[in-house]
Amino acid sequence: MNIDYSILKKYPFCNRCFGRLYGKLIRTDNFDRGRALKLSKAIELEQLLRIALENLNNDNLEFESDLKLTPDEIDEIKRLMYSIHRSGLFEIKLDLIDNIEKYEAEYKLLEETNGEKALEELEIKCPWCKDIFAPENLQKISENIAETLKNYEFESFLIGTKLPKRFKELEKEIETPFMESIRQEFGRELGKIVTPILKRRVDKENPDIVIMVNPYNQKVTLQVNPIFIKGRYKKLVRGIPQSHWHCRTCKGRGCEKCNFTGKQYQTSVEEIIAEPFMEIMKGSSEALHGAGREDIDVRMLGNGRPFVIEIKEPKVRTVNLKKMSEKVNSSKMVEITDLEYGNKKDVHFFKNEPHKKTYLAKVECDEKVSKEEVLNLVQKLENLVIDQRTPDRVAHRRADLVRVRKVYKAWPHILDDYNFELKIFCDGGLYIKELISSDEGRTSPSVSELLDKKCICKFLDVLDVHDYEDVENI
Ligand SMILES: [Zn+2]
Ligand SMILES: [Zn+2]
Repeated sequence: MNIDYSILKKYPFCNRCFGRLYGKLIRTDNFDRGRALKLSKAIELEQLLRIALENLNNDNLEFESDLKLTPDEIDEIKRLMYSIHRSGLFEIKLDLIDNIEKYEAEYKLLEETNGEKALEELEIKCPWCKDIFAPENLQKISENIAETLKNYEFESFLIGTKLPKRFKELEKEIETPFMESIRQEFGRELGKIVTPILKRRVDKENPDIVIMVNPYNQKVTLQVNPIFIKGRYKKLVRGIPQSHWHCRTCKGRGCEKCNFTGKQYQTSVEEIIAEPFMEIMKGSSEALHGAGREDIDVRMLGNGRPFVIEIKEPKVRTVNLKKMSEKVNSSKMVEITDLEYGNKKDVHFFKNEPHKKTYLAKVECDEKVSKEEVLNLVQKLENLVIDQRTPDRVAHRRADLVRVRKVYKAWPHILDDYNFELKIFCDGGLYIKELISSDEGRTSPSVSELLDKKCICKFLDVLDVHDYEDVENI
């Protein structure tokens, strides 16, 4: 495979860019490689041209091997020599090339059909790099970066280069198997200047901030990666949802019904937890990811429910976690513990790993229930497999299907002839209110079915969300 010099007849790539076309060959910088390639070709062409011109009008060549080129072939050599000269190798003598105007006119025509403004005579501007490696350009971009970052706390960063579409297309057109993208070289060169200024470490895997640069217009944009903080929360009161709900009437726009707050409920576990974090970290938004959720009227007690709070695009990344939990806990509605920094994987874990639960349910029967009946009930509940069709009350937002869940154990506490409490250890995802009521037969077996009495769940608390699968520890 040969080096393709004819590309220079279409695009007068500078030494650096021509060297980048073969950037993976020979460990040297692109400028040196490009200049060396052009020089060696220029020497070859000049030699050819000199011999060919000498022999042009000589019909009595001594040896058959003596070079005899047609005028067209000579024209091609001159055209290529002129192209190499024009691309920045000014060592090529133009005195051997007598019809520069013709080649220059061809260039102008080509540039105009490419939709570019025709260049001033002999003004060389490389159509690939457009001078983006000039020290002034790199300096200006580093200043823009420092300015854009000035309000952000970060420990690590990565520079990404964003190429405008036309340069991506150009690279596709001129690609060789050994080419390096200008993105890589620009990122490397800019890094040399920016890293000492920022005095932070470069992290290719998981940087706090990705700095995206368009080298051609000096625009800088940031991708600020979120902060994840995990812990466990308890919900000490009934009546607040886990996450913010839009007002049903106005869908969040604000109306008389919601007192122009746009909220269906005054607050939520999410809002109570997020508020102090958002205040200090100044994120653009946040999200609370819980290991499941409890209903609005259900408390979350015991060791609390595992959660991760994600603060998006934070300006501040380090906070005093103890102070944060003190602030949340002063709400008296939500209490958080075991706070630590987490990562994106935790979100996936909390969302997708089924956690077993322990509940405390207050059961009310519409007829008298004896101690024997209750003891009998908990015996039947042990290791009982439940078929649960999606409850009627959530069917509008969940797919209607039958889930199979297990109750592992239940413990009774009798309150009076009609009421008793059940502590229930079961699979995550089992709806307890329906386990008790039977949900018109959609959950089976159920407490109502096993007792053969109509029962409802008066109150429900989550006592524990289990990390481990060990029933003995309950
Ligand atoms: Zn260039
Ligand atoms: Zn409203």
